[in-house]
Amino acid sequence: MKSLYVRMSVLFCSIILISSFMGFFASNFYYQVKIKPQNDAKLTKMAIGLQQFVQDHPDAVGEYLLSTASLGYKLYLSNGQGDEKFYGLPFRKNDLGEDVLQNVLAGEVYHGVAEFPSQVFVTGFFDNQLSNSIGLPVHINGQTYALFMRPDAEVQFGELRIFFAVLLGVSILFSLWFVLVTVLHVVKPITRLTAATKRISKGRYDIRLNTRRRDEIGQLASHFMIMSQELERTNRARQEFVANVSHEIESPLTSIQGFAHALKDSALPENQRLEYLSIIDGESRRLSTLSKQLLTLSSLDYDENALQKKSFDLRAQLRQVVQIMEWRLTEKELAVRLHVEDIILLGDTNLLYQVWMNLLSNAIKYTPSGGTITLSAEAAGGSCKVTVADTGEGISAAELPMIFDRFYKVDKARTRDSNSSGLGLSIAKKIIETHGGTIEVSSTVGTGTTFTVNLPLL
Ligand code: ADP
Repeated sequence: MKSLYVRMSVLFCSIILISSFMGFFASNFYYQVKIKPQNDAKLTKMAIGLQQFVQDHPDAVGEYLLSTASLGYKLYLSNGQGDEKFYGLPFRKNDLGEDVLQNVLAGEVYHGVAEFPSQVFVTGFFDNQLSNSIGLPVHINGQTYALFMRPDAEVQFGELRIFFAVLLGVSILFSLWFVLVTVLHVVKPITRLTAATKRISKGRYDIRLNTRRRDEIGQLASHFMIMSQELERTNRARQEFVANVSHEIESPLTSIQGFAHALKDSALPENQRLEYLSIIDGESRRLSTLSKQLLTLSSLDYDENALQKKSFDLRAQLRQVVQIMEWRLTEKELAVRLHVEDIILLGDTNLLYQVWMNLLSNAIKYTPSGGTITLSAEAAGGSCKVTVADTGEGISAAELPMIFDRFYKVDKARTRDSNSSGLGLSIAKKIIETHGGTIEVSSTVGTGTTFTVNLPLL
């Protein structure tokens, strides 16, 4: 497997090299099309000046051509019959055709620079060969000579060429180095993220990533950290949930087993047998309630759109709940006050029924005899507010934030015997939130507790 670092480095380095080559080809093409003819015209003009001077001063031809050569030119003078002379440093190649020489002697101007063949890798500009020159006929003391000249690239542009080569080479080297460093900078966090993913897959959530970066990678790292914390929380919650469920199932099952075993004794008096049977009945009911509660929770967790909404009369529903609880209220000598407006609510009737049942049965359970429970409902500004207030024992401020947690019971020892699982309020909260509403609680120890539910009307 090729690493991302190698891939990106190779890609960017190739881009730099290809761009450099393309830049060279483009400028070479520009030279061939635009600069070469211009250069030829410029040199031709200089050659004509040279021709004029030589013809006007036939006695100083040698010195003049020598001094011209020393200024950075290569010159070649020939009469076509063996009398020839070179000025300046030697040409790289003396490749002048005989016909060219004859044509110039016959009076033609030779445009070797403009006619120099175009090649992809050679600019021609720096090629010091004789054919890459300008040729003119010159008349000296009645004799015709052919004079060829071109600039000596070595002398005129030698340092410049090195300068540009160094410039290009160093730029490319620096670019390559920067590419390697930059790619490392980009790839490193991704490598760290990959390592972090592996840690998470092994169940280790203690992940530290650099979240100080302000770019997308920084965001990715911080979202990744949040995700890992969330995963850890979910994982812990799942483990706790399983432990709690097992515990809740374990205790009624143990007592059912114990009393069933005791019932096997044929010498057991009738009244004790009936007592044991009623305990078994109670414990199995508790198990059944627990399994129903778990089912409700799991269906709400699994599919939040599972609500079967319809319009219903809230007042009628709350009255029904109070009616069903009537005997428990009477048994505990509790007073009930009902202040319920005429409200039509859109929601899942069965689930909301469970919410009111839970709130009211809690109020009954945790309010001592002689207390009062007030149930009120009012509609205002597109939502409806239902409150269940009691004058019971209340919940301490430290416990208050936890009461909506699954399996949370304030008084574990006392609720042990009662039909209590600690799931009721968490289910109520889930149902209300699935309906787009909120549930809040306020409580004072010794004074009472008030649960306030807000639900959207439509
Ligand atoms: P449970 O099945 O134990 O009633 P809930 O989730 O309904 O479970 O309630 C969680 C805890 O909140 C209870 O154990 C109880 O201690 C506390 N609680 C709930 N309602 C009231 C109330 N009206 N007054 C006092 N405490 C309450």
